[in-house]
Amino acid sequence: MGTRLQVYEAAGITVTFDPTVCRHTGVCLRTLPEVFDVRRKRWIRPELDTPDAVEAAVRKCPSGALQCSRPSAGGTAQE
Ligand code: SF4
Repeated sequence: MGTRLQVYEAAGITVTFDPTVCRHTGVCLRTLPEVFDVRRKRWIRPELDTPDAVEAAVRKCPSGALQCSRPSAGGTAQE
């Protein structure tokens, strides 16, 4: 079965990536190069910027390959 959904969790935000949808535009890489870095095995590291910044970058993804969800405010996130 080849590719499947990748999930990257951090405190305050969870980012998912569907490699079958990505069009390799590089928008995410240019928007937040620290968070999105394909040279790493774990190429998305949402903990390296604020959840707001990560969500904004996810929304710029033109293909919809990137999606994110955020826990409701007031929840306790574990490290
Ligand atoms: S912005 Fe979206 S479509 Fe473009 S490379 Fe990143 S994940 Fe793929």
